[in-house]
Amino acid sequence: MWPKAKQYDLVIVGGGLSGLVAAVSAREQQLSTLVLEKGRSIGGDGNYVEGAMGVDSYLQKAAGIDINPTELLQDELAYSHYEANAPHLKKYIDASGGVIDWLHNLGVKFAKVGPQGKSWSTIHTFAGGGHAAVQTLYANATQAGAEFVTSVSAQRLQQHDGHVTGVVIMDENTGQTHEIAAKNVLLATGGYVDNPDLVKTRVADNHRLMAVSDGKSTGDGMQLAWQVGAKHYSMGAIQYGGGAIYDKTQPPFVHMASQLAAAATQEAILWVNERGERFVNEDVNDNMCHAGSAILTQARTFSILDQAAVDHLTNVGLYKEVGNSPISPEKFDQLTSEIDDTLKQHAKYLTSAATLAELAEKLNLPALPATVARYNDIVAHGQDADFGKAADYLTGLHQGPFYGVELGVGMACALGGLRVDNQNAVLNDHGYPVPGLYAVGNDAAGMLVGDTYAVTLPGSTAGYAAFSGRNAVLSMVNAS
Ligand SMILES: Cc1cc2nc3c(=O)[nH]c(=O)nc-3n(C[C@H](O)[C@H](O)[C@H](O)COP(=O)(O)OP(=O)(O)OC[C@H]3O[C@@H](n4cnc5c(N)ncnc54)[C@H](O)[C@@H]3O)c2cc1C
Repeated sequence: MWPKAKQYDLVIVGGGLSGLVAAVSAREQQLSTLVLEKGRSIGGDGNYVEGAMGVDSYLQKAAGIDINPTELLQDELAYSHYEANAPHLKKYIDASGGVIDWLHNLGVKFAKVGPQGKSWSTIHTFAGGGHAAVQTLYANATQAGAEFVTSVSAQRLQQHDGHVTGVVIMDENTGQTHEIAAKNVLLATGGYVDNPDLVKTRVADNHRLMAVSDGKSTGDGMQLAWQVGAKHYSMGAIQYGGGAIYDKTQPPFVHMASQLAAAATQEAILWVNERGERFVNEDVNDNMCHAGSAILTQARTFSILDQAAVDHLTNVGLYKEVGNSPISPEKFDQLTSEIDDTLKQHAKYLTSAATLAELAEKLNLPALPATVARYNDIVAHGQDADFGKAADYLTGLHQGPFYGVELGVGMACALGGLRVDNQNAVLNDHGYPVPGLYAVGNDAAGMLVGDTYAVTLPGSTAGYAAFSGRNAVLSMVNAS
């Protein structure tokens, strides 16, 4: 169904987390507001979000969590190698607690606040997950009079004298197009993680990268903006979800709750490359993005478990509380049946053998027996002289059967491609706004990162989606 009117104060492209926040904010400012959503339902990847970043929120005050914003800024600038834009990151950090409070006042429920592994205590976990937050925001936006159309995508921006004046939209079912005029257009399309060609411009060797998003984050925002003169900014960072089962036959989300995947990415488990050589301190899994980067330094990666590891995970549980790696179960009660089922299905990503020599032969990993002998020696001495893995996670491999799990890298989101200013206005090559055009959420979050996603600041993209959606609207109102 086409939008009811021909013209709006604000057209928001994308009805995910940032678009929904922008819609609520726009109605607070009494802007006539249209949200275009190309999917059949709203929420985008916002539906899967665990929590959002905030500093000095009502929850943190209640929990006695006191974060020095300048120290946090310095830390994140250093983590990004100063590729993050300091004024924009500062504005986000300074406003973030207030944005959490604003969401709370709208009825968005938070369960708790805290860190994720070695990180700042910033992630505000949504009670009921991202889906509940999305539904609350949608209810607020529609009750306040924002109009939503689904299965309708933005195809092209219209421009007059350099000013963005409207959007050509398309019915995703019929392919018919239609024109809508707008005083301002806000891009909130979720970044580019689902566009392999764009991902390739960031990571050339991308065949083992597997997106776990909803498939709709195809970089539309940046491509729409580039067509009207926006700068092609750095392609920024991809949020790697660490090691993921490399299964070429099924979509990655099938394995998201897999206990085998969680077992294969424990700090204590040995990783080897295509030759069977060890290549990294496996406690890199404390940072899922670093773990993803490490995997991509090799042509192939295998996680090697022995039966003792399977028994330990099954009967005792995790070797350590999980850091910011993918979510791990508390008990690996399905691990053995998952292994048995997978072996019965002859899935290529899992191989078992009675001996290490046989596993090496089956997987064509000639160096594996020597690597395990060396690793067991390291474990016996309690010191990883090769890569410096912490002694607590040095666990030898002795007891067959042995298992090899092939790993690729999961991706949750990809940030970059556009440059925005502190008002979230999209900038051209000269650093000046393309009049009438704003970008928020993942479409603009390349401003906050260097080459590696900031797992040190958990909840940072969802927090930014909320901050930037609101910031853009308040800025455009102040500018008019
Ligand atoms: C499984 C998973 C878990 C995550 N967990 C977290 C977390 O816990 N914390 C965190 O900070 N981040 C998390 N993220 C990152 C997440 O992407 C962001 O936090 C958040 O969704 C970004 O909001 P957004 O509005 O930019 O994108 P989205 O919420 O994805 O919304 C973009 C919307 O734009 C629509 N769209 C795209 N192109 C067009 C077009 N041409 N026309 C119309 N509509 C269009 C899409 O269909 C989509 O609905 C997670 C991501 C995934 C995949």
